[in-house]
Amino acid sequence: MESEKPKNWQQLSNYVRWIRAKGACEKCGAVHGTPCEDGGWVFLDVVAVDPEKGLTRVDNLVALCPACRKVHEGDPEPVVGQMSLKFQVES
Ligand SMILES: [Zn+2]
Repeated sequence: MESEKPKNWQQLSNYVRWIRAKGACEKCGAVHGTPCEDGGWVFLDVVAVDPEKGLTRVDNLVALCPACRKVHEGDPEPVVGQMSLKFQVES
């Protein structure tokens, strides 16, 4: 279920990672480039919140650290509503 990346993906993913998320995981807040629990480094990736909606809209994109990405993609039924709610609450 790989979604196809749009032509302006670089721009979109950069916007989500560095401007909207300010370089931190939008789920757990882990900061890009800092050590993570498994001994590696936090590297933010941008993924679709709802894979069926694709990767072309920033409101369907989320910047996640490797750990959160694993949870997000490993979850057979991603709880989209709860995720976006959590983003709003954190500040
Ligand atoms: Zn995270």
